[in-house]
Amino acid sequence: MNEPLYHVWRYNENDRAFWDRHLEDWLPQRLIDAHMHVMDPRFRLFPMTEAMRQQYWVNEVFEPISFADARRCYQLVFPNREVRCLAFGVPDLAFDLEAGNRYVQEGALESGWNSLCVVRPQWGVEQVRAWLDLPGVLGVKPYYALIGASRDTRDAHLEAGIFDFLPHSQLELLNERHSWVTLHVPKADRLGHPANLREIRELRRRYPNVILVIAHLGRCYTEPHAWEALPALADDPGIYFDTAAVLNPAAHRAALKCFGPRRIIYGSDNPILFMRGRRQYAGRTYVNRTDHPFHFNRQREAPEIEAQYTLYLYEDLLALKQACGELGITEPSQVRALFHDNAASLFDHVIRHQPKP
Ligand SMILES: [Zn+2]
Repeated sequence: MNEPLYHVWRYNENDRAFWDRHLEDWLPQRLIDAHMHVMDPRFRLFPMTEAMRQQYWVNEVFEPISFADARRCYQLVFPNREVRCLAFGVPDLAFDLEAGNRYVQEGALESGWNSLCVVRPQWGVEQVRAWLDLPGVLGVKPYYALIGASRDTRDAHLEAGIFDFLPHSQLELLNERHSWVTLHVPKADRLGHPANLREIRELRRRYPNVILVIAHLGRCYTEPHAWEALPALADDPGIYFDTAAVLNPAAHRAALKCFGPRRIIYGSDNPILFMRGRRQYAGRTYVNRTDHPFHFNRQREAPEIEAQYTLYLYEDLLALKQACGELGITEPSQVRALFHDNAASLFDHVIRHQPKP
């Protein structure tokens, strides 16, 4: 078996063997991926430049994936599983956000999935409300890069405060409706930056009905980042975390230790996790290994090692499995919570509180 998956990646015998060996008996029958990006490339307003590709590895691996392709890929990578997604577009001003939101909302509905709308901080409450009123939309995906366009760097607003890109006016509306917010925290120092922790506590105090899901475990991809940030939020049972693109068993272990399996929600960050390879860690940094000659991939591993690569998606799932195993989180109900039930009950909660049409 050797089938095209997405972008430059294929799905091969290694991958199926990896699935059979590590995942088939462990993953539940029904899965929710609560963090994935879908987009039609026709909504791109500005082309990806060579300079941008060289600047940031995600720019090289990220190609917008359509709903049809996403559904086909999920059938291939999760054989015999029923997979639903919480889909959102690309939070990037190089795309037409409103056309993208419409595409995502309609495609999610057709797929039997749910969606979030991407919002700019400048948008008024009535504009955001109109998106939230559409069928299947559970909340919003804000992002600091949506504060203002910069053609040269994705990090012009990295040091912004949370309320700079998720303003209080929008939060009041989201609180009133019990809406879902997938929050990608700002700052080079990631979740552990004192301003992030302070603002998250303020958000929780002032807007307790918002379903707050902190993306990528607060961008804690390394063990030091995880341990300096996650314990600070352990005492608030109303904060949830998605696992998107984490991949590191030590970071998953820290999160599971701090929060247990009921506050963690599986998310992939696809399409980028269809990449083949592995991630390696040194202190507070990591390096992405892969088998395609991207700019960021100058130091290749030996061919016999590359030949053993599987999808980042599978590496991430195995990392989660290892972390669960080490912490004794082995009851099927606990694994189901992580991969389905936590997200499903929060979806239900949001839907129950939506205004009746
Ligand atoms: Zn993402």
